[in-house]
Amino acid sequence: MSFDVPPRVTPTCCLQMQVNQSVFLYFEGFEFDVAERPKWYVKGIVDSAGFPVEHVVEAKCCPFCGTKVPEIVKSNLGDLKIHKTGSGNDSGYRCGTCKKRNRECDCLPPEFHWAPANDPNLKSLKDTIDRHLLRVQQAKEDAIANGD
Ligand SMILES: [Zn+2]
Ligand SMILES: [Zn+2]
Repeated sequence: MSFDVPPRVTPTCCLQMQVNQSVFLYFEGFEFDVAERPKWYVKGIVDSAGFPVEHVVEAKCCPFCGTKVPEIVKSNLGDLKIHKTGSGNDSGYRCGTCKKRNRECDCLPPEFHWAPANDPNLKSLKDTIDRHLLRVQQAKEDAIANGD
């Protein structure tokens, strides 16, 4: 996906969580199916033969306010495009939603097919989603300005 900082689905418990996006929905593994349930994760770091390697660790609660992570439900985002793993010969290489190659896809990350149970429309993430849409729009305008 072409944006630098992908937006994340986070719990709605507190402002600190919304600002820092420390706990986020994530599909384990490279290939995923949108029918598969993502889980809540935090970032961790491990030593791999002397090198620090980031990885994700399942989260049970918010590190700021201590609220337990919420149950998740299928999201309802109306017209907003959300990335899907492609099917057919190109499986895994093209987005099943916009049909562009994965790296050119501007759709929201696949985790956005899911939402906290208390916020299925992801109203709590309105700013995050708006910033993403603005970046997509700017990238398109830059591409036109650069003639490609
Ligand atoms: Zn919190
Ligand atoms: Zn796409």
